[in-house]
Order: sequence, then structure tokens, then C-alpha cells
Amino acid sequence: MNVTAPTDHVDVIVIGAGFAGITAARDLHEQGYSVLVLEGRDRLGGRTWYREFPGTSTCVEYGGTWFSTAWMTSLAREIARYGIEVVDQPSPQSFLWATGDDRRTHAPIPAGEFGVAEKTIVALHEAMRRTPGGGLDADEDYRDIDVACSDWAPIRDLPAASRDFAYGWAAMYGGCDPADVSVLHYTRMLAEFGNNVTALYDGLAQKFAHGTRSLIEAMAEPIADHIRLSTTVRRVIDTGGLVRVCCDDTVLTADRVICTIPINVLNNVEFEPALPENVSAAASFGHKCMSIKAWARTRNVPDGLFGLAWPAAIQWVSNEYPLDDGTSLVVGFGYDEAELDATDVDSVAAALRHYAPDAEVLAVDTHDWTADPFSAGAWSIWGPGWVVDGHADAFTAPHGRVHFAGSDVAVRWPGWIAGAIDSGTQVAAEVRSTLRRIS
Ligand SMILES: Cc1cc2nc3c(=O)[nH]c(=O)nc-3n(C[C@H](O)[C@H](O)[C@H](O)COP(=O)(O)OP(=O)(O)OC[C@H]3O[C@@H](n4cnc5c(N)ncnc54)[C@H](O)[C@@H]3O)c2cc1C
Repeated sequence: MNVTAPTDHVDVIVIGAGFAGITAARDLHEQGYSVLVLEGRDRLGGRTWYREFPGTSTCVEYGGTWFSTAWMTSLAREIARYGIEVVDQPSPQSFLWATGDDRRTHAPIPAGEFGVAEKTIVALHEAMRRTPGGGLDADEDYRDIDVACSDWAPIRDLPAASRDFAYGWAAMYGGCDPADVSVLHYTRMLAEFGNNVTALYDGLAQKFAHGTRSLIEAMAEPIADHIRLSTTVRRVIDTGGLVRVCCDDTVLTADRVICTIPINVLNNVEFEPALPENVSAAASFGHKCMSIKAWARTRNVPDGLFGLAWPAAIQWVSNEYPLDDGTSLVVGFGYDEAELDATDVDSVAAALRHYAPDAEVLAVDTHDWTADPFSAGAWSIWGPGWVVDGHADAFTAPHGRVHFAGSDVAVRWPGWIAGAIDSGTQVAAEVRSTLRRIS
């Protein structure tokens, strides 16, 4: 690699063409700065990917999908700006709540457990109030709630069905075992939804009528000539005067770099000077969201079925798209590849029969975000200790001329598409404040 012969110079190089990178690059371009987006994959969108389910003409989301414009104002703003069509998530026509060996189709937990479950809801609300509006309070001691969901007494000590119901939601939203996700991760998120436990359900209120692609392509359109796909960044060198960004066969320079690389793969890139210890420690801590989003073309799954189960190979299931031939496309979320092989018809069929005993699976498809070298995981979640060990603050300050952004490190809506957009907007403003305006 030739690091002494830069081929190009721009004001800002943005690493990553997901929602964070495209938002930041678009904003800076509009404000008159020269930008270049370097993206390792051969497509835009990062951890969103809308494409056809094989053998059908129906496109589905393999990554990020749902949102709520009522709460996620940065995303709502972009949707309105480009006139992107969104649809409401249809109301389920039937429910299946499976905990232990029990199946319920009406109340999610047994009526006899309502009273004790209410105490847990109160405890959740008390925790939510400690992150007003979803923000962390520097003066607050979070040690009692920055703990694993499975270690937190108000959940752990519930009667079995209610505890398993809570674990099912924790596993689905965490894409991991409830032992690997912090209570604080959820209570902060629910606070951002206006202190609302039912946001676990209501937050998935809408999706794009024509996929996430419809929005990111609209946002990227003005900077299309400034995006290089299939260009993986290997090394970032801050010389003190400018930044050299080294890819496989080229070196580019910029006054500033915005790095939106997912935290689970950040340490794959070499930084000179080396990343501060707190940043590389946070990246090593990473997140444990290894969600497996399994799509299946099925028969005999009830129309509009929505289900949640624990323990189960698939913790959350939704019958999303009825097709003309009487089959339907069903999506399920699991996290344990020992329990669920989303590329295998029999494995997915066995998992779906937990919800629909007569389910037949004709075809399956998925994207393995955990094996993907550009993500090494799905969406970001806070593992136990993320906040009290100081990782949540690690990415707020720039490292010399390198600024960090992305939904993994977002202050608002971390882990969501909205968080990526919010973080992209903020980092563009931060970088702008450090650069001389050129037009
Ligand atoms: C299965 C799944 C389901 C999800 N469901 C939802 C949902 O329903 N609602 C929701 O709001 N969110 C959801 N999310 C999360 C959401 O998709 C992400 O939080 C968001 O898209 C991340 O955007 P980003 O720009 O921060 O990161 P990314 O989209 O990951 O973008 C970072 C980019 O950097 C690139 N990159 C990485 N390393 C390099 C390198 N060395 N050189 C060059 N480029 C590099 C990557 O290829 C990528 O394109 C889901 C995610 C997954 C995976």
C-alpha cells in the first residue's frame, strides 16, 4: 500500500454508506463542502437491505425495517422531505404467546400473574424516569439497572410465564440471550418513547412502502458522484495536518474524516495515532446483538399471526405478506445459530411450528449479519455495564481529525435507523464547526 501518494483531496471523507454516513455526507455537500463517501460493500444502506425474496416478486427487508414517525423525528423529517411513502404495520389478526409449555391466544400472561407483573411495570417506569426523554444523566448512578435483564430482580423473580414473556421481548429486541443485554438499554429506549412499556410493540408502527432503499437512494442522489462502493478502508492516518485514508489500492486525503463503521468491526481498521484506549475498549466490548432475521415462504400459518415465545428458537414472529398463490412470507427473529439455521427449510419449519403447528415451509432466506465482515452483528444494544463502565461516552469526542457517528454510538435512538440519521446530522454539524466554510 502506498501511503505517500495521495490521489485526491476533499474536505471530508465519510467512511460508510449506511444512513449515518449518507446523512452526514449529504448535509456537508449541501453546505458547500467537498465530500467523498467510501463504502466497503457494493451497495448503499449498510444494515438495511431491501431486496426480493427469491422466487417471488415481493421485496422484503433483510435488515432494519420498522419505525415510528410519531417519536423518531429525525427520520420523520427525512421521510417528509423526500415524500417517501410509508405504510402502517397491519394490526395482527391473531396472537400467540408461548411461554414454557403454555400457549395463550388472548392475554399475553396468565390472569393470575397480572398483579405481580404490574409491580415489574412500576419498577420499569421508575427506571425510565432516570433517563428523562431517553437521555443519560451524568449525575445518576445506574449501577443497579446497568445489569443483565436475567439478573434484575423485578424480571428474574417474576412467576415463570411472566418472566418468560419478558425474556422473549428482551431476546427479540436484544438479538441475544437476556443475560447479554442491560436493563438500562431497554428502560432508556422506553423513556425515549415517552415512558411507555407498550412501545416494545407500538414502536414498530410503520415501514417503508418501497423499502428502506427508497429513502437512502433519495438522500444519496445529490452525492451520487461522490460515493465509491466496494472500497474498504484499511487504515486511517492523521498526520497532524490532514488525514490519509488508505484503501486496498488507493490513498485519499481529507481535512476531516467521519467514521460510521459499526463498533463490532471498528477495531479491524488501523488508526494512526492509535484509537484512544476508551474508544478501542468500547469497540472491543461491542454489542452482542446477533439477531437472525429469518424469512420463510409458508403455508398454513394463520393470516396476520403475531407471536412471541420463550424459550424458543424464534422468539418473535409475524406473518407479513400474503402472496397471490395462498402462500405467505413470514418473518421470525432468533439469535442462537445452534437452535436456528435460517438457511435451512427444516430448521425454520421446526421453529415456526412452535407458533403454527401445521406450518409448511417452502423456501427460506436470510442475511447473516453476524458473519458479514462489515457488521459482525445486527443492531447495537447495550450489554450489561455499557454505561457504568464508561463505554457510552467513548465516541463523543473526535480522535484528532476523525469524528465518530452511526447508530451504534448515537445519543438518540441508538440501534435504530433514526439513530443513524440523528447521529449523521449531528456529526455533520460538529465537523462543519471545525472547518472553514468554502462557499
Ligand atoms: C436484522 C436487522 C434488523 C433491524 N431492524 C431494525 C428496525 O426494525 N428498525 C430500525 O430502526 N432499525 C433496525 N435495525 C438497525 C438499523 O438497520 C441500523 O441501526 C442502521 O441501519 C445502522 O446505520 P449506520 O449508518 O449507523 O450503520 P451501517 O448501516 O452499518 O453503515 C455503516 C457502513 O459502513 C460500512 N463499512 C464498515 N466497515 C467499513 C470499512 N472498513 N470501509 C468502508 N466501509 C465500511 C458498512 O458496509 C456499512 O455500509 C436492524 C438491523 C438489522 C441488522
